This record gives sequence, C-alpha cells and structure tokens, in this order.
Amino acid sequence: MSRLPSMARAGAGRGTMITPTETDRAVERPSRTWLDAALDLVFPAICPVCGVALGAGRRDPLCGACWTGLERITPPWCERCGLPFLSFAPSQTSTMKAGMCQGCATDPPAFAWARSAAYYGDRARDAVHALKFRRKRALAKPLADLVGEQLARWLPDDIDALVPVPLSAIRERERGFNQSALLAERLGHRLDVPVRPRWLVRTRATQPQTDLSAVERRANVRHAFRASPGGVSCLARGRWAPRRRR
Ligand SMILES: [Zn+2]
Ligand SMILES: [Zn+2]
Repeated sequence: MSRLPSMARAGAGRGTMITPTETDRAVERPSRTWLDAALDLVFPAICPVCGVALGAGRRDPLCGACWTGLERITPPWCERCGLPFLSFAPSQTSTMKAGMCQGCATDPPAFAWARSAAYYGDRARDAVHALKFRRKRALAKPLADLVGEQLARWLPDDIDALVPVPLSAIRERERGFNQSALLAERLGHRLDVPVRPRWLVRTRATQPQTDLSAVERRANVRHAFRASPGGVSCLARGRWAPRRRR
C-alpha cells in the first residue's frame, strides 16, 4: 500500500504519521461552542468525504469515523525514507537491522529525511480526492493536522522554511488553489515555521499522479522542479533569518 504524501527534508518526498501525543491532544481538542452545537441542530454539518453528520470524534470537517479511520503509520520505519518495516520483505532483514529499507541501503535517495502521514488507504484517498478534485478546501485543516501530529514529535528544531510543491499555472487556475500550499500554511502556523511557496519553481507541467505506480510517479515529476533564484540567493546571502520554533 502506498502512503499519503507528507513531508521531506532537503528534497521532495514522503512523510510519516503518528498517533497524537497528550500535548497534541491538548492543542488539537476541538473547541466546540454552544453556538456550534446550536447550528448543528438546525444545519447538521456533513462530512465531505462520507456524507454523514459529523458527530462524536469529529475533526471538522471530517467526521469522527473518517478521522479515526485514517490509517496512521507508526514506527518502526526506515530512518531515511520512512517506509514502515511492516512493508519489508523477509529478505530485507539485514537492512532492517541497519535501520534502513533495502532501497535506501543500496541506492540512497537525494533527500535527507522523509516521513508519510498515513497509508494511502480508502479514507485517505477519498479525503485527498475530495480536497483536490471536489475542491473541499476545508479538508486541508484536518489533513495538515494529521501531518502535524506526526511531525510535532519527530521533526528537528532547525527547519528554515516549509516549501509547498507548486502546481502548474494552468492546473492552479483550473482548481482555484494549490492544495499543497493550503496544507503548508496550516502546518507552518502550527509549527511556527515560515512558508515560502516561491522558493520552488515548476519548470514543466506533468501528468496527474493519480493511478500511477510509485515508479511512474517518480518518472513523471523528474526534473519538473528547480529552486528559485530568489530563494537561493536569499539563503546564500544570509538575508534569510528563519524564525525558530518555540
Ligand atoms: Zn466521514
Ligand atoms: Zn528507505
């Protein structure tokens, strides 16, 4: 099973997800007011993924069943790319002992670190498709929270910026937004890390990744991005003073 795209360090990639810590739960506890409850009585909030009323355990606008049904990835995993060890074949025992999957051990990726939020199961796929193709922008909130709950525990402290993957101009115009930027904005706010959407530039349009295999996805986006001159010079000249997370 593939994984829900999330976050990589020093390169595009995939991220990982954990169950919430006690601290996360305190931060993330839904702040339902009497007004929300009253509005729900008159205009019941409906989950944009499965179509039922949100109910208990909701993470607006996801209902409780969809939120808890997202299949989080938990350790142990490859320390480089985040591939869960449950995905490993028995023949990979030796690389597992070294903390890496066979692919990273034999052909290390260009990025330093990547983790995925969740398996790309039915619920995750439906939620991502609703966000991207049915323009349910509000889903960026719980999906970014899903990533944040993982990263709050595993991310290093010296992150300079979050850089969302850019869409082609045509696709962003058609969709009306870049879902990656929506996720980054929410996540950046949560982590107190600045978001710099112009530091990465798309050099060509690519085919939709939907229904492509992992190998085909990598080939599809190869050489499709470059660092922007402005972002590079900003970093190189030391004019960039990143905020540190509290
Ligand atoms: Zn639902
Ligand atoms: Zn790996």
